[in-house]
Amino acid sequence: MNRVYLDHNATTAVEPEVLDAMLPYLSGEFGNAASIHTFGQKARAAVETAREQVAALIGARPQEIVFTSGGTEADNHAIFGVVAALVSWPVIRSANPVAIAHLKHIITSSIEHEAVLNTCQALEKQGVAVTYLLVDRNGLISPTAVRRAIRKETVLITVMHANNELGTVQALAEIGRIAEEADVYFHTDAVQSAGKLPIEVNALRLDLLSLSGHKFYAPKGIGALYIRGGTRLQQLLYGGHHQRGFRPGTENVAGIVGMGKAAELAGKAEDAARISALRDRLERGLLSRVPHTRANGASAPRTPNTTNIMFPGIEGEALVIALDLKGLACSTGAACSSGTVEPSHVLTAIGLSPEEARASLRFSLGRHTTAAEIDLALQIVPAAVKQLRELAPSYRKEIVTRS
Ligand code: PLP
Repeated sequence: MNRVYLDHNATTAVEPEVLDAMLPYLSGEFGNAASIHTFGQKARAAVETAREQVAALIGARPQEIVFTSGGTEADNHAIFGVVAALVSWPVIRSANPVAIAHLKHIITSSIEHEAVLNTCQALEKQGVAVTYLLVDRNGLISPTAVRRAIRKETVLITVMHANNELGTVQALAEIGRIAEEADVYFHTDAVQSAGKLPIEVNALRLDLLSLSGHKFYAPKGIGALYIRGGTRLQQLLYGGHHQRGFRPGTENVAGIVGMGKAAELAGKAEDAARISALRDRLERGLLSRVPHTRANGASAPRTPNTTNIMFPGIEGEALVIALDLKGLACSTGAACSSGTVEPSHVLTAIGLSPEEARASLRFSLGRHTTAAEIDLALQIVPAAVKQLRELAPSYRKEIVTRS
C-alpha cells in the first residue's frame, strides 16, 4: 500500500542531505566536541558550523544559539530561566520561595503547546502569577490584550509563533514592540513556524526563541534556544563546560550537524507557495465533497502546510484509525490522557464544543507532499467520513432535524 503522510506537524522524515551530513559524525568523525585532539576539533568545527547555520535561519548571531534536546527543553529553559534569573538574591535571603515567586508575572496564551503551558502551570504552583490570554475564533490573541495584561511584576511574555493544531500565526512584531516598550522579556515558541515562515529575531524584537529539529527535516531529540546577547537567563542544567557551561552535557554532534544542515535547506526552500496551493486544494476539496464540514481557524494568517477540519457527527479518533487503514496518516485535535479522549485545549479555546473539537482533524503537508497524494486524500477522506456517519445514528437524526 502506498501510504500518504499528512502529519508533518507531528514530525518530519530526516531529509537525505541531512542524513548524509550527519553520517560521518556517527562513525569516522565520532570525536567528543569538548576534546582538544584532532577527533574533538573536527567535531567542534562541525558543531560551530551548525550554530552558524541555525543562527542564519532566524537572523541571529551564532553565539546566541544554544543547542538543546528539542523544543520542550528550549521552552522550559526560556521560561524557568527568566523567572529564576530575575529573582534578586537579597530577596531570596530574606523571604520564603512562595513570597519571592509572587513578585513575578508571566503573560502567555491559552493555545500554547503543553511545553509552555505545563511549564507555566508548574511555576504557578510555586506562586508565580500567569495570565493565559484568550484567543478569538481563529486562534489569534489581541496585541491590545497583551498590553493591558502587563503589570509591574511582569517578567516575560511568551506567545507561540504558529500554532501546531491550526497553523494560526500570531502578530509577533506588534507584540514584540509592546514587550520592548514595557521592558519585558519576549519569548516565542517557533517550533511550528521555523522552516515554514521567514523568521527575523530583530524585526520581531525577540529575546528568546525555541526551535525543534524534527519539525523541519532534522532528527528527533535536537533543538535550540536563541538567547539574545545580554538576556539574563538562569541555566537549567548543571554539569561540565559544554556550550560555555550554559547547557552542559556532551554535545549531540550528529544531531546538531543535522539540525544545521536542515536549517540551511529550510532557508533556501521556495516550497511555501507550492505547499499552500496543495493545502488549499485539499481544504476546498474536503469542504465541497463532505457535507456539513468547516475549516477551523481558516480566516487567520496560517502556516502554508496546515488545515484543521471539523467533520460533525464523527469521532476524530475513529476517523484517524479508519484513514490509517486506508493508508492516510493525519491526526486528531484531541489527546488521550488517562484513558479518556480529552478535547484539544486549542480547539475549545477558539470556541468549539468538546464534541466539535473531537470531530476535528489536522492535516499537515510537507516538502515532499505531491498533488497525487492530495487527490488520493480527496478520495479516501470523504468515503471514510460517509461510512462513519452512517454508523452514527445521532448524526443522522441531527441532519434530518436540521434540513
Ligand atoms: N512546541 C510546539 C508548538 C510543538 O508543536 C512541539 C511538538 O509538537 C513542541 C513545542 C515540542 O517540541 P519537541 O518535540 O522537540 O520537544
